[in-house]
Amino acid sequence: MGTHAHTVLEDDATASSSRIVLQCRYCLRVQDGQGWQQFLAFLRQYNLSASEVFLAETYCEPCAAASRQLVTYGPIAYHDNH
Ligand SMILES: [Zn+2]
Repeated sequence: MGTHAHTVLEDDATASSSRIVLQCRYCLRVQDGQGWQQFLAFLRQYNLSASEVFLAETYCEPCAAASRQLVTYGPIAYHDNH
């Protein structure tokens, strides 16, 4: 009576239920598509609970740019203006 495809997709359901979300270490916003938004607002938007997301630490673009500036210019130099 035809071919019987035997696939075990149910096992993957538990793994895919928790999604990996990038969170900025500085401002604690999370990546949402192209932009960044507050973690709680993100959970509310996608109807998720905190236990359903796995947070991966990163830096958002503004914070990454800010830290890059710190590296470029170094610590504030004190001018001796006496
Ligand atoms: Zn940030």
